[in-house]
Amino acid sequence: MPARPLIDLHAHSTASDGTLGPAELVRAAADAGLAVVAITDHDTTAGWAPAVDALPPGLSLVRGAELSCRWHGAAPALPLHLLAYLFDPDHPELVAELARVRQAREVRGERIVALLRADGVDVSWPEILAAADGGTVGRPHIAAALIRAGLVATTTEAFGRDWLGERYRLPKDDIDVFRAVALVRAAGGVPVFAHPRASRRGRIVPDALIAELAGVGLAGLEADHEDHTPAEAAHVRRLATDLGLLVTGSSDFHGSHKSVRLGAHTTAPEAYERIVEASSGVTGVASG
Ligand code: AMP
Ligand code: ZN
Ligand code: FE
Ligand code: FE
Repeated sequence: MPARPLIDLHAHSTASDGTLGPAELVRAAADAGLAVVAITDHDTTAGWAPAVDALPPGLSLVRGAELSCRWHGAAPALPLHLLAYLFDPDHPELVAELARVRQAREVRGERIVALLRADGVDVSWPEILAAADGGTVGRPHIAAALIRAGLVATTTEAFGRDWLGERYRLPKDDIDVFRAVALVRAAGGVPVFAHPRASRRGRIVPDALIAELAGVGLAGLEADHEDHTPAEAAHVRRLATDLGLLVTGSSDFHGSHKSVRLGAHTTAPEAYERIVEASSGVTGVASG
């Protein structure tokens, strides 16, 4: 029996907070033996074109994004990540929302740096913004500055409670999750909840919310992810079965900002086919 193709539907590049450029990302995906990789940078499609241009033979690319969302039904409002696949990158309302969120991330990043500086921590916002090099700015960029300043040794330490995980953590202005699901569908794309049950990151999406979103266009749930325990992944799979949603698995690769490798978790070919079929075809899968 031929080996099942390896399909990894969640990876970041320097277009957001990954450390490999989009071209390096697709080359690394081919080197890792993947048949399909998705580029899913936070709140941007800027990595799509350079990834397509560099696509190695035999590798398929799913163009996507990871949208910063919020659910206002909890107090405080709950931040959520929604993966969006194969949507039209020129859909005006979606384009506007993504631009707004990227701008909000810059405002928030500058505020975090101001808090750090007020406490005598010598990090510079212009330097952090320059290092992000036009990509969507996130806390990992601030973490990198803390590492450069010798204040922490690793990104994980920078995300600890004394730093960006709590003391210097500020909310950002995200997209309402119901609006995000509707916009992704309106743009012909396929919305899949990223790591919906990652308790170790304090990110548990209530089952009732998932059920409600399943009724208005949510297509799937990411079950196999490094932030899920085996029990959490199993719970997500059961929930998906109950709601008729598809299930994905993925690495959420961030280059050296995280230790996870490309292909560490993968998606079944049947689920991948369902995603492709559910998209409107404006943005097809690109083949190398
Ligand atoms: P932000 O988008 O600015 O809120 O920063 C969150 C991003 O940082 C997410 O994409 C995570 O993948 C990444 N992240 C969160 N926690 C950690 C951690 N402990 N180590 C490395 N990266 C993290
Ligand atoms: Zn990230
Ligand atoms: Fe995420
Ligand atoms: Fe991610």
